[in-house]
Amino acid sequence: MGEKGGFHVHRWFVALWVATVLFIAASAASAAEQEEAMYEKRMELYKKAEAVSLIPWYYFAAIDQYERNVRQVRRDLPKPAGVLGIYMKPDVWAGPLNKNPHDTNPFTISQFGGLGVDGDGDGKARADDDDDVIMAMARYLQTYGIDHRHIKIALWNYYQRAKTVDLILGKVKIYKKYKTLKLDDHVFPLPLRANYSYRDTWGDARGWGGRRIHEGTDIFAGYGVPVRSTCYGIVELKGWNKYGGWRIGIRDINNTYHYFAHLNGFAADLREGQIVEPGTIIGSVGSSGYGPPGTAGKFPPHLHYGMYKDNGYTEWAFDPYPHLKAWERAERQQQRRR
Ligand SMILES: [Zn+2]
Repeated sequence: MGEKGGFHVHRWFVALWVATVLFIAASAASAAEQEEAMYEKRMELYKKAEAVSLIPWYYFAAIDQYERNVRQVRRDLPKPAGVLGIYMKPDVWAGPLNKNPHDTNPFTISQFGGLGVDGDGDGKARADDDDDVIMAMARYLQTYGIDHRHIKIALWNYYQRAKTVDLILGKVKIYKKYKTLKLDDHVFPLPLRANYSYRDTWGDARGWGGRRIHEGTDIFAGYGVPVRSTCYGIVELKGWNKYGGWRIGIRDINNTYHYFAHLNGFAADLREGQIVEPGTIIGSVGSSGYGPPGTAGKFPPHLHYGMYKDNGYTEWAFDPYPHLKAWERAERQQQRRR
């Protein structure tokens, strides 16, 4: 092939490359737009339920978000059909004694004690219709009362699990404070300018995390390097543990528990129940653990970072390494852009 042909091929590649970049940029933009529209649609439903029931929208947002995350990690529950995560089982929707578990007649459903209602006025109470589902939840909560204490009792009776009620009420607090549903931002637990190193140690036989199999990532850094919250969440735990040393647990909006161990100490004003944001300083890197409170120096200073997920029954650890990598990368890109 002569000079000219080579030039042609080169031009063709450039054109293809430009087209690919444009395509990726366009699909990224439309994905962001879709996400935006979905958040708006959800907020509309919550606000509609608030207008009818006088129960603040953030209770619906919290219940919905809790259930959405449970459904994402459970195989025994169907995936959401609309924008809501709330799922009412057929016998709950239609009534336990209803011979038709898929009844959509609001009258017979109420006769059999089902929670299903017609929320959008189409004459049908459908368990896969977002308007009907949000209104069914609103009506159910309303039967107990519309203040915090009564909503709490309603949640207790509905879920029959203390942890679930705590998780939902934690989200209520967060949504109430930020007044938005978009609370998915994350940052790396240490400031990126600090000297640190880490690698994927998931499942290693030994570790200084306090479990027999290493459930987390060890990020090695010097004493006193600030440790930051990786997410929007609530401080669920703060204190000493024989293996973890001084440690903090933060529950985020996705039912995920972020665990920080072997700290040198805590941020001065940090308390359990406090709301934190990505970047909030919660303590500093240390080597505490493996003995009575205050024990330190039995291993090199590092942050043990763990992530746990709740599925409505139980909680399990998953590998934080890919998330750490992604957050670190995203934060570096953001810094470059500034
Ligand atoms: Zn560890």
